[in-house]
Amino acid sequence: MSMLRLRNDFRFAIISLFGVIAVVVILPFAIYRFATGQVIAGSVDLAIVTGLMAGVTYGWRGGNIDRIAHGMVIFYTTGCVVLTTLVGTPGLMWMYPVVMTNFLLVGRMPALLVSAAAIMVLVLHGQAFDSLIERFDFFASASMVSLFAFIFALRTEAQRDQLETLASRDPLTGVLNRRAMEQELQMVIEAHRRLGTTYGLMLLDLDRFKSINDTHGHEAGDVVLVNFATLVQSGIRKLDRMYRIGGEEFVLILPGSNVRGLATICESVRARVETGLRIQGKSITVSIGAAELKYDEDSADWLARADLALYRAKRGGRNRVEIDQGSEPVATARTT
Ligand code: GH3
Ligand code: MG
Ligand code: MG
Repeated sequence: MSMLRLRNDFRFAIISLFGVIAVVVILPFAIYRFATGQVIAGSVDLAIVTGLMAGVTYGWRGGNIDRIAHGMVIFYTTGCVVLTTLVGTPGLMWMYPVVMTNFLLVGRMPALLVSAAAIMVLVLHGQAFDSLIERFDFFASASMVSLFAFIFALRTEAQRDQLETLASRDPLTGVLNRRAMEQELQMVIEAHRRLGTTYGLMLLDLDRFKSINDTHGHEAGDVVLVNFATLVQSGIRKLDRMYRIGGEEFVLILPGSNVRGLATICESVRARVETGLRIQGKSITVSIGAAELKYDEDSADWLARADLALYRAKRGGRNRVEIDQGSEPVATARTT
C-alpha cells in the first residue's frame, strides 16, 4: 500500500526521503557534534532528526500529507536557521537544499514566505557570518535560489493546469469529456447524499447524425458538433456543466433541477437546437432523455434512467424530450 503510494504520491516520496536523509546524513552530524563537545548544535541536529522521523512515521501510518508537509517545512527551516546561528557557514550551506525542498513540499507562496523569512532572519541577525561581504553573498545567492525555485514552481503549476485541461476536455468541441463527467458524478452524488441538493441529468443525442456525415462529409459533421456545443452552452446557466461522452452524445448536469425544472430546460434546449442548428439551411434536431437524481442511487443507475428516457424519445419519433418520472414514465413530448 505505502510502496504504491511512494510511486504515485510525490510529496509522500519526498517526505519518506527525509526519513533516509535524517538517519544517513543528519544523525552522523549530531553524533559528531556531541563527540566534539558541541552539545547545543548536536541537540538541534538531534531534534531535527527526531522531528523529521516523527513526520515520516505519521505519513507512513496514513497521516494527512498536506499537514505533514506544512509542518515539516516550518520545522526543518526553523531548525536550520537555529543551527546556522550556532555553527555559521556549515549551517548556511544547508539553507540551499532547505529552500529547494520547501518548494517541492508546499505551494509556491507558502514556500516563498517561509524561505524569505528564514533568509531575512539570518541576514538581520548576522551572527552566522564572518564578514559583511559574506552576509551580502548569502543574501544574494539564497534570494536567487528562492526566486528560481519560485519561477520553476510557477511553470510547473501552469503545465499541470494545461495537462489537466487536456485530460478533462474534448479537443473538438472544448466541452468536458467523459472522464471529467465521471469525476463530477461522484461529487454530485456525494453532495446529494450529504446536503440533499437536487440534480438533473440530461442525455442529448443528435438525430440522424450518420446521414449528416454521409451527405455533407465528416468535416461538416465536426462543424455541426462544435456549433451544437456552443449553441447549447449559450442557453444554459453557468453552473450547468456540459460533457461530450460519445460521438454525437452529450450530457448536461444541472444542479438544482427537479423533474419539473428539467422538463422546462430540456424543452428549451430542444427548441433552441431545432431553430438554431442548421446545415445548408436544413434544420438539425436533437433527442433528449433526462432524469432527476434519486436518493441512494449510483451514477450508473441515474445514467441508465436518462438513457432509457432518451431511447423512448428516439423511438417516439426523435426531436423530442422524455423525462424519467421515477416509477411511471410519462412523456413530456414537444408541443409542436
Ligand atoms: P439516431 O437519430 O438514432 O441517433 O441516429 P444517428 O445516425 O445519430 O446515430 P448513430 O449512432 O447510428 O450514428 C452516430 C454517428 O455519429 C456515426 C458516426 O459516424 C458519427 N460520429 C461519431 N463521432 C463523430 C465525430 O467526432 N465527428 C463526426 N463528424 N461524426 C461522428
Ligand atoms: Mg448516438
Ligand atoms: Mg444520434
